[in-house]
Amino acid sequence: MIIKELRELTVPLRGNISNALVNFSEHTVSLVAVVTEVVRNGKPVTGIAFDSIGRYAQGGLLRERFFPRLLAARPESLLDASGRRFDPAKVHACAMRNEKPGGHGDRAAAVGALELAFWDLNAKLDDEPAFQTISRAHGVSRLRDDVDVYAAGGYYYPGDPCAILRDELLRYRDMGFSAFKMKIGGADLATDVARVEAALEVAGDGSRLAVDANGRFSVDEAAAYGKAMAQYGLRWFEEACDPLDFDANRRFIEGYPGAVATGENLFSAADVRNLLRFGGMRADRDIFQMDAGLSYGLTEYGRILAEMDAHGYRRAQLYPHGGHLINLHIAVGLQLGGCEAYPGVFQPFGGYCDDCVAGDGRIAPSSAPGFGLERKPELREAIGQLLA
Ligand code: MG
Repeated sequence: MIIKELRELTVPLRGNISNALVNFSEHTVSLVAVVTEVVRNGKPVTGIAFDSIGRYAQGGLLRERFFPRLLAARPESLLDASGRRFDPAKVHACAMRNEKPGGHGDRAAAVGALELAFWDLNAKLDDEPAFQTISRAHGVSRLRDDVDVYAAGGYYYPGDPCAILRDELLRYRDMGFSAFKMKIGGADLATDVARVEAALEVAGDGSRLAVDANGRFSVDEAAAYGKAMAQYGLRWFEEACDPLDFDANRRFIEGYPGAVATGENLFSAADVRNLLRFGGMRADRDIFQMDAGLSYGLTEYGRILAEMDAHGYRRAQLYPHGGHLINLHIAVGLQLGGCEAYPGVFQPFGGYCDDCVAGDGRIAPSSAPGFGLERKPELREAIGQLLA
């Protein structure tokens, strides 16, 4: 088994939406392919993945550092014991040769996209959906092949903030979603309280509505928002303060009785260990959103899970950031709490395929081999361009 070629295509995100801090119209994503010499049905078996949503593409890092290291490695040094599949941990270690620890930044997403493409490839070599490959590799016996899903949206658009938000969540409800997440912190507190109350008219109950401040608040602002939000019994309050300020997280939690969520901007097991040590996260209610595509891929994500296990947290507390097919397979394969969906936004990467069965607030991956990205109509053009 040899790598014939590694490719990257920088794909812009479609749409013009904003959270409290970021407008996504300039964002890009790296779509990566690992082309092998194995030919099936007249085509080389090819692993495909991308990093995740909400950061930028890393074509430069991939082409300058990570692709050359893998292509220079002895082919057998990247394989598992059977010699018929790649060992993602060896791929990860090879890609990270000569990299200092810490200071993760964009390289974590570059390696994430690359390492995940090898999971897609391994699943295709075994002609099975990636969640099965992931379960087997991690010794997970699955109780079910679907997970909890909620519709994330509620961004800031021009116009009447409450009417637009209500219409948006009604659309998601018509699609079959029963839980929702909306942004806060992009307007003043009074406006956001009115938006939350408008959203609750659709959600029906606070337990079906989460809010996300995207790390926007100072400790004092977070406390004021926390005080205003506590009465609604929300599903969770996400990223109140800077995601790397663990003491701010702890102080926010001290004054907020409901569930909080964070972790989408932590890119390593060491970062997560610090969150668990110093961030005040509670094993009985809080939610963790680390995203393998942003944090070096599944090899590092496995180390993150080991940290959480060692500190007494449960798999059900994990809801990876990034509502897309790769994280759906990871959530099912590792039996995590669930995943998010961004209906209609963050195309072509966001959302699932029609053959992913959704219903009753849950979603299941299809039986397509690998992550099934080729089955997603919105991705067809980009994948065609990547492989042309
Ligand atoms: Mg978030």
